[in-house]
Amino acid sequence: MNEKKSLRTKVSPELQLSIKHQNRDSTRVRVGGFEIGGNHLVVIAGPCSVESREQLLETARSVKESGASMLRGGAFKPRTLPYSFQGHGVEALKLLQEAKAETGLPIVTEVMSVEDVGLVERYSDMLQIGARNMQNYPLLKRVGKTSSPILLKRGLSATIEEFLGAAEYILKEGNWRVVLCERGIRTFEPLTRFTLDLSAVAVLKQISHLPIIVDPSHGTGWSSLVPQMAKAALAAGSDGIIVEVHPHPEKALSDGQQSLSIDEFRLMMQGLREIAKAVGRTI
Ligand code: PEP
Ligand code: MN
Repeated sequence: MNEKKSLRTKVSPELQLSIKHQNRDSTRVRVGGFEIGGNHLVVIAGPCSVESREQLLETARSVKESGASMLRGGAFKPRTLPYSFQGHGVEALKLLQEAKAETGLPIVTEVMSVEDVGLVERYSDMLQIGARNMQNYPLLKRVGKTSSPILLKRGLSATIEEFLGAAEYILKEGNWRVVLCERGIRTFEPLTRFTLDLSAVAVLKQISHLPIIVDPSHGTGWSSLVPQMAKAALAAGSDGIIVEVHPHPEKALSDGQQSLSIDEFRLMMQGLREIAKAVGRTI
């Protein structure tokens, strides 16, 4: 009689460090006072881009009040066209620092180039490697040499093994503080910006020891879909979510269409508390 194979047997034996082993516990990544990958779910919220002091501080205060555990905000933005807003750079990093000083929320922000790693590290608690840089190997090696926690986003068209391959670059350099992030992939479906691959959460939980969170904002491209997909992500076993929030989404300089308003974020958090309870976790 044929026996059922385990998914693990399909995974390339060349993947080593990111893969579960008998004697390797699940990795937990400490960021500020939080631990990602434990029983407590992490909620990272904030604007796509840091636009102004008012915009960032208003968002930071309100997401904190609604129960977010970390603040996101882009200072260096990877835009499809060079004509689009590219981010306020160092000025934005300083505003993030100010928002942290006021709210206590740890900061996650993207670093796009090897040269900026030292700078972004000084102003943040966690470095984000964006989807477009998932295969920027010099950058992966460089952040692997830091001791910062890394939020590694899945490439737009990366397979799960390629995603883990990217994580291996960071782990191999000695930095084991890696959190994976499923943020949607390109498929033939045009109605959503990307297709949020929640099965990747289940797969990664089965084959990898690394924590994984989900980004339903980029994953769908529509704020009206975000609360539902955030709930689904937690139900699927995600260790948390990262979402875009803006006080005036219609005026945002980037990704307004997918950004939740402050009220929408607060409402979403209520729904997430019920899911957290149902899956035996806290939020
Ligand atoms: C972002 O977080 O704003 C972003 C650009 O994400 P991604 O790299 O997943 O597109
Ligand atoms: Mn964005």
